Amino acid sequence: MKVLIVGGVAAGTKIAAKLKREDRSAEVTILTKGKDISYAGCGLPYYVGDIIKERKDLVVNTPEAFSKLTGASVFTHTEVTHVNREAKNVEARDEETGKISTYTYDKLVIATGASPFLPDCEGTNLKNVFVMRTPDDAVALREAVDAGEIKRAVVVGGGFIGLEVAENLNAKDVKVSVIDFAPHILPGFFDPEFSAYTEDKLADHGIMCFTGVALESIIGTDKVEKVKTSRRAMKADACILAMGVRPNTAFLNDSGIEMFKGTVITNQYLQTNDPDIYAVGDCAMVTNRVTGDAQWSPMGSTANIAGRIAAMNLAGKEIAYPGVLGTGVAKLAGICVGRTGLNEKPAKDAGYDVETVVTVVDDKAHYYPGSGSFIIKMIADRASHKLLGIQVLGNESVDKVVDIAVTAISMKATLEDLQSMDFAYAPPFSTAIHPFAHTVNVMLNKLSGAFETITPAEYAAGAAEDYKIVDSAINPTIKGAPFIDLTKLEGPVEGLGKEEKLLLVCAKGKRAYMVQNRLKHFGYTQTKVLEGGVTFNTSVYDDVE
Ligand SMILES: Cc1cc2nc3c(=O)[nH]c(=O)nc-3n(C[C@H](O)[C@H](O)[C@H](O)COP(=O)(O)OP(=O)(O)OC[C@H]3O[C@@H](n4cnc5c(N)ncnc54)[C@H](O)[C@@H]3O)c2cc1C
Repeated sequence: MKVLIVGGVAAGTKIAAKLKREDRSAEVTILTKGKDISYAGCGLPYYVGDIIKERKDLVVNTPEAFSKLTGASVFTHTEVTHVNREAKNVEARDEETGKISTYTYDKLVIATGASPFLPDCEGTNLKNVFVMRTPDDAVALREAVDAGEIKRAVVVGGGFIGLEVAENLNAKDVKVSVIDFAPHILPGFFDPEFSAYTEDKLADHGIMCFTGVALESIIGTDKVEKVKTSRRAMKADACILAMGVRPNTAFLNDSGIEMFKGTVITNQYLQTNDPDIYAVGDCAMVTNRVTGDAQWSPMGSTANIAGRIAAMNLAGKEIAYPGVLGTGVAKLAGICVGRTGLNEKPAKDAGYDVETVVTVVDDKAHYYPGSGSFIIKMIADRASHKLLGIQVLGNESVDKVVDIAVTAISMKATLEDLQSMDFAYAPPFSTAIHPFAHTVNVMLNKLSGAFETITPAEYAAGAAEDYKIVDSAINPTIKGAPFIDLTKLEGPVEGLGKEEKLLLVCAKGKRAYMVQNRLKHFGYTQTKVLEGGVTFNTSVYDDVE
């Protein structure tokens, strides 16, 4: 069997290597543009920040080493320009000589990835305008920084790639601003209140995010001098364009292969509408594992997981790829972010009876040096009690909370399934009730009515306007608000009416829950706890008259 793979980075090399292990007799050939194969796109920002020292460390295998290791042939600098499905061959252009060659196949794999979106505006060709996709992109940016050319940079695009580059530039003392057209950074990744919190944390670390701001042009004579936005012109020595990626599929336009907005449509076996042609990675559309809807997942994880399955199917197996949850995790300046599953609005749009809860919970034993907090937003279905999604902020290890949720959602677990799971605990790692399980418990309390709350999103939207804020922290912290000391709460509180609308606010939400529990016992009927306390809802301090 002759298998041609077009594209030789994450998906392409994964498929080639796995296929040769599955079927040594398969004749596997990779045709790919550019000089590198198998490079770590995900590692590029860390090369910019000197965490990864050498370019060669970004390239997992050279073509020669890969061929020796796997038995697959690799042709670099080879751009496929046309697919002839009837003749079962592709035409490819040698990027160095311009020579056109034809390669035949029994099975073809499209693994051509995606390229950074380049805006149609003036100045994108100026010196010190960068994108971040290949090792050479990272080398160019680091060289310019190390040469002292870049003191101030504007990153256009507040997705995880732009923010990772921002973090690494910031670590090298470049003053970085991020602009994004969307109302918040990390659009689609987080719900708005989690994005807004992240923006505040980045600002604390010197990275200013300007949202709802569009790029208009890049100004300069030879090199970048200013970045003109819909709000103002910002002085800058460099502009990093991180406005998303677009699938590399233009060469398929006349092939009859079905596509949607440039992504190749595949079935669960990763085949296109032509059963002899597969598509995997950033160039292909996959499905959302919860909703079953089509979803684009331009992620290295998806390229590798789906690539492995495609290879097994090419070797004759019949394995269905179950799809993605939109899982992602990123280390940003001063904060780590992670998510999986459905966010609040998409969950509602998908028809679920959505309940959410925000907790601020210790990430390890509070007395252990270096302990901090996770801020977790959990999304579940009221009717079935199934977990639908999670968003996590933290100093570190957010991936462990996200990955439990990935497992739970993939296995369609209910909150009851999850609440008593035997998660690992020792003080340096976690808490006796795992932060994830703690959040499940809080969600169950909320669903049962034992925990009555106003969420941060509701609070920001004005849901607490007719509530009296009651400080329920260990010590009074909210100037002008009545204070309840939980340890002395043994009966009705003077000055607080039992029918009065009271918003109980503490540091994180936990102590206020205990106060609420006690107040209910004493006949108070209209109390609510502000989820996430003042840790998450910092505007509370300004909201008390
Ligand atoms: C800065 C950065 C950070 C990232 N961080 C993460 C992360 O933390 N986690 C994560 O999961 N993902 C991350 N990603 C995404 C991840 O790198 C991509 O999803 C992954 O590389 C996609 O693999 P792919 O094989 O589909 O495509 P690509 O890696 O784009 O490879 C496709 C290859 O095909 C070649 N090609 C294109 N057209 C043709 C043609 N016509 N003929 C021949 N060859 C062609 C391309 O030149 C390229 O070499 C990051 C990406 C970037 C840029």
